[in-house]
Amino acid sequence: MPLTRPASVTDDFVSELVARVPSTSGGTWKLTEVYTGDVLVELPQSTPEDVADAFAAARAAQQEWSQWPLRKRLAVFRRFHRLVLERHETIADLIQVESGKARRMAFEESLDVPLVTGHYLKRAPKLLAPKRHAGPVPVVSSSLEIRQPKGVVGIIAPWNFPFVTGISDAVPALMAGNGVVVKPDNKTALSPLYGVRLLEEAGLPKGLFQVVCGEGPDVGPTLIDHANYVMFTGSTATGRAIGERAGRNLIGCCLELGGKNPMIVLPDANLDDVVKGALFGAFGNTGQICMHIERMYVHESIYDDFRDRFVAATQALRVAAAYDFGPEVGSLVSVEHKERVAGHVADAVAKGATVLTGGRERPDLGPAFFEPTILEGVTKEMLAGSCETFGPVVALHRYGTEEEAIALANDTDYGLNASVWGGDLDHAIAVGRRIQSGNVNINDILATAYASKGTPSGGVKQSGIGARHGDQGLLKYTDCQNVGILKKQVMQAPDDIPYEQNVVQQVKGLAIMRRLGIR
Ligand code: NAD
Repeated sequence: MPLTRPASVTDDFVSELVARVPSTSGGTWKLTEVYTGDVLVELPQSTPEDVADAFAAARAAQQEWSQWPLRKRLAVFRRFHRLVLERHETIADLIQVESGKARRMAFEESLDVPLVTGHYLKRAPKLLAPKRHAGPVPVVSSSLEIRQPKGVVGIIAPWNFPFVTGISDAVPALMAGNGVVVKPDNKTALSPLYGVRLLEEAGLPKGLFQVVCGEGPDVGPTLIDHANYVMFTGSTATGRAIGERAGRNLIGCCLELGGKNPMIVLPDANLDDVVKGALFGAFGNTGQICMHIERMYVHESIYDDFRDRFVAATQALRVAAAYDFGPEVGSLVSVEHKERVAGHVADAVAKGATVLTGGRERPDLGPAFFEPTILEGVTKEMLAGSCETFGPVVALHRYGTEEEAIALANDTDYGLNASVWGGDLDHAIAVGRRIQSGNVNINDILATAYASKGTPSGGVKQSGIGARHGDQGLLKYTDCQNVGILKKQVMQAPDDIPYEQNVVQQVKGLAIMRRLGIR
């Protein structure tokens, strides 16, 4: 049966969305429907001047927005939360046409935005309220910690979760009183553009949240040069370039980068759960989740059993192009990306790895389909053994001792996510804590850590700097202003005693304060 594009994604709707992109050059980029390769829309491309103008407009709107009482700002996000849930189908339609992911994943992606919005609706009043701290001299002095918005935040987003990285990361920035300019990947600009439209429908002032489009090296530098803070999600190589430029400009940045995430299966793990988890870990979002699993270390006592069951379950996965909830696995995002993934598999096979299942492109399903693939015998000399593949390809390894498993898991430059499975929870947690990784999931792949919005989530080692979620996920978009208040001038050395006597008094005073527990 020929594939029919979702009814909501009409030419008029798509044209209306891309009309938001500032573009004076007339240059465009062909945004395609991934399943068919058909051009969906000519996406306008922003010039560096357009980016500068977008910042000027966001900055003008931000002046007023930051003066709104927090209660009034948050009311916008209450309405937005409702709108996102009401329009989840349209959101999933857009995510699917532009990314080619399976509908199940597109739906799950749409849910992250209300989760994040709901979390910060609850936390923002507390986080943004001025806090009074004790001053250096009891009673007469104090200090106020005031959270000021940074100004205009630049967000650079990848294609694998375009709605999340374009919108969820903007929500706390906007709540804190900032403007935002987001640059999505050209391939996946539609869902973030729709997110901005929904925010405006919910009452966000027009102009405050801008979307600029273009290839990263063309518009990225101008974006960083105009931003007061940069939130970047993408590859480690690009993150390094962004961090360097942010450093030169002396602005803060949060870099959420790649991973080569390990999974350790302890001998007492429940294999039914492990097999189900492994399927999602390796093939969820067609292997294009920054936190997904590319290396599995399984104890030798259960390795053969696990391998046979995992291979059989993988072969039973439904891989297809469909705009319904049938398929478990969809397409890769583009033909170029499929070629990169195929290159990793070919390199592994050429260097001695074995394909247990998959390993082939599937042009019969669509231009960018690649089969869920399980490899054995992968070594660090192979691309698939050391670099992030970012596709539906996983390597199985057997281990003997726990020390060996932990050492293998840590034998990478990355440190984004790890997954540990075991029946004895305390023991599994102890193993997880020894893995050098910003996120660790016990008896789960990634969702438990990622969806716990109260805890910061970010990478260590080459997987990034900073975090999203948790209190710092909002506070990073603010500057702390320290307002010191003195009711009576007691800080200067008195004129009527020699300075030596002042020294004695100050030392005595501090000793008393320490004894009284004041300092
Ligand atoms: P990428 O680094 O190629 O591109 C990401 C974004 O940066 C795109 O919008 C791109 O246009 C832009 N860009 C590229 N070069 C730039 C430059 N010189 N200056 C400014 N912007 C530039 O990454 P990708 O291939 O789109 O995304 C996949 C990568 O993202 C994977 O490595 C994945 O692990 C990572 N990722 C990480 C997280 C996380 O939270 N840690 C989440 C999702 C994806």
